[in-house]
Formats: sequence, C-alpha cells, structure tokens
Amino acid sequence: MKIALVSEHASPLATLGGVDAGGQNVHVAGLARALAERGHEVTVYTRHDSDEQPSRVGMAPGVTVEHVPAGPARPVGRDRLLPYMGQFGGYLERRWAADPPDVVHAHYWMSGIAAHVAARGVGLPVVQTFHALGSVKRRYLGSEDPSPSGRIRMEAALGRAAAAVIATASDEVAELGRLGVSRHSISVVPCGTDLERFRPEGPTHPRADRPRLICVGRPVERKGVDTVVRALRRVPDAELLVVGGPPPGELEASAEIRRLRAVAREVGVADRVEFVGGVGRGTVASLLRSADVAVSVPWYEPFGLVVVEAMACGTPVVASAVGGHLDTIVDNTTGVLVPPRDPMVLARRIRSLLADPLRRAAFGVAGADRAGCRYSWDRVVGETLSVYERVQPEKRGKVAAAGGAA
Ligand code: UDP
Repeated sequence: MKIALVSEHASPLATLGGVDAGGQNVHVAGLARALAERGHEVTVYTRHDSDEQPSRVGMAPGVTVEHVPAGPARPVGRDRLLPYMGQFGGYLERRWAADPPDVVHAHYWMSGIAAHVAARGVGLPVVQTFHALGSVKRRYLGSEDPSPSGRIRMEAALGRAAAAVIATASDEVAELGRLGVSRHSISVVPCGTDLERFRPEGPTHPRADRPRLICVGRPVERKGVDTVVRALRRVPDAELLVVGGPPPGELEASAEIRRLRAVAREVGVADRVEFVGGVGRGTVASLLRSADVAVSVPWYEPFGLVVVEAMACGTPVVASAVGGHLDTIVDNTTGVLVPPRDPMVLARRIRSLLADPLRRAAFGVAGADRAGCRYSWDRVVGETLSVYERVQPEKRGKVAAAGGAA
C-alpha cells in the first residue's frame, strides 16, 4: 500500500523531550518504519518549522518525510497551529490529486482537519488517531487548557467523519462514545515499542549506591513530576532522576523545570533530585535500565509510552491508574497502580517496592514479557494494517452491501 501519515506538529525527525515533542513523534516514527519494513511505501507529512529543512527527507528505507509549507518556517506551539490547517490541507490535496495514497492516517485532531480537507476532494479513506482528546484535557486543566476553542466539537465531527478511528487505549473508547463516535468504527490498537532498543540487556547508565527512581517525559505540569518530588521526602536515601525538557545546558529555559526545582527546595530534597534534561532514545533506555523503579504519575495519560519502555527494559513501574496505564500495566504483576496527585500513597508504594528486591525482579521479568508480547511493533503494525485494509473502498463497499442485505 501507499500510506500517507499526517502529523502536523509532531515530526518523526524532531528532537525529543521538549514541551511539544514526545509520544506522538516517537509513535509516528515507529509506525512509519514498521509499515515500510512490511513492504509499504510511507510518506509522513509534517509542518515545516525551519528554513533549513529540505522539502523531502528520506528517513528510512521506504519512508519519506515531507515538510509541508503551512505557516511560518519556525517552531510554533501546537495550540497556535489551527489557522494554518487550511493551507496544510490545500497542499495535501494538490499532492494527492497528482499521486493518491491508498490510505491516509491522521495523527492528532488538527492533522485530521488537514487530512479531511484534502481527502474529501480526492475521495480517500481517512483513519484517525487522536493521541489526546480535548474533552479529557478540558476536564483536567479546566480554564488553564490552552487548546483552541471548538476543539472538542471538531474532534467529535472528525471522529464521526473518519472511515475508522484507532484508539490507543480502551479508556478512549468510552470517551469517543460520549462524543457520538460509533463504536463500530473504533478499533483499539496500542502504540508500539522499539524492543531492540528497550530491552533488559544493554548499556546501563552509571549509578551511585543508593536507590534510584526515574521519571521520563515532557516538562508539563500534568505529568505529575511534582507529586514524585513531594513523595521523595518520605523515601529516605533514594535519588530521583528527572529526564526530559531542554538539552542539559539549557534547563533553566523551562518554566516547569524551574517550578520543580522550587518544589524540591521547598520539601527539602533538592540534593536528591537530578534534572537530566532532554536526551536521545538510546540514553532513555540506558537510564531506565539503571533505575530501581520508574515512576509515571500524570493526572491523565492517553497512552503513556514511557511505562511500556520501562517494562520492556525490565524496570518495575509505579504509575497512576489513569488512561492508557490501565491497559498497559498489570497491577501488582508488572508494576503498581496508584491514584494520581497523592504523594503519601505514592511514597508508601515506592518504599514497599524498594524494600522487596524479589518483587522488583518479578515485576521486571513480567514487564519485559508483557512488553514483548503485546507492544512489539510487529504486532501493532499488523493490527494497524487490518484497519487500513478494512477501509479500502472495495472492502467498505462489501461491508455496506452486507449490512444492507441483513
Ligand atoms: N522521551 C525521549 N527523551 C526525553 C524525554 C522523553 O526520548 O528526554 C520520549 C520517551 O522515551 C517516550 C516519549 O518521549 O517515548 C514520551 O511519550 P509518552 O507517551 O510517555 O508521553 P507524551 O509525550 O505522549 O505525553
């Protein structure tokens, strides 16, 4: 198949760890590679955000990244990109009219807008993955939610208009149902993980002779790292590595990291918290392997790649019982689920896990096994391709005819 992946703000080539570059970038890069390894021809369309970017770049055999001229050629926060989606869609329409793909897969709601603008004219099926839903964001962030107004309404319309919706976690299915998206059009397909890189054996970051906790993620408040910093006060002797944010020398540029440093000072643990900054994929794996426990306690989490990466490395996880974590973690088997925003309970669970090396080892083995069985790209791409095949015009015709006869 000729496959178009649309990922307006999240380039698969981006440097990771900043406020806007995380799971979606990793997912789109992994999906593109895995599809190409099965022999498909993949083009990823993402917004150009620098004058230095060539219009087309070969990312891997069978994968091309195309930089779409829509909006200024400099980084623009994702919440300010909506006005450029018409231009983005117009570009796609011209490209696809000349050389149509077999299927279009839009990642994030704004990519869905651009994809629909283009695909309608050319008559192509659009598969939609939201990665995050505005209704959930609004519930947790309230008036602090920076999303453009109308996002929730547009997500509902996109979900209903798509040939199929891929939800990355079961929790999202109910949320989509509340938006009026038909259950029949939704398939749950999780994000995949690079098991070559994230595995129990491999380079391991040096560490001191004290328990090590680790948090990995974009530096945004809803990731709940301050809950971990507060919990650290009740986990004597342990150190906490906080990974993510700007590159190491530029950490003070991040308001969230400055806030977390202040929390660490306030609760008296500043000497036990190390801010590592944004690092590459290999370093994430070696840091995860070096930790006794990976902690991820966001307020909400559409999927949560980091806990799967930690499990794949054989590192036990303590994670908030929200969103994707409810699918990925088997409570008390590959990790421990805790309520979000509760430093007392978190500290208790971490202490009990640190005191029990046998349980940690058992969680590590079970986690690596689960990541290998359920979250390999091979399995995830197979499930994604079944959705692509189902929406091909001839298949849709048959499904409609069968429905009509029944
Ligand atoms: N990540 C990374 N380097 C960093 C920080 C994060 O490679 O310095 C990666 C992390 O390993 C994971 C992704 O960014 O693959 C974050 O994805 P997740 O689903 O956990 O959170 P999201 O960014 O989607 O909110």
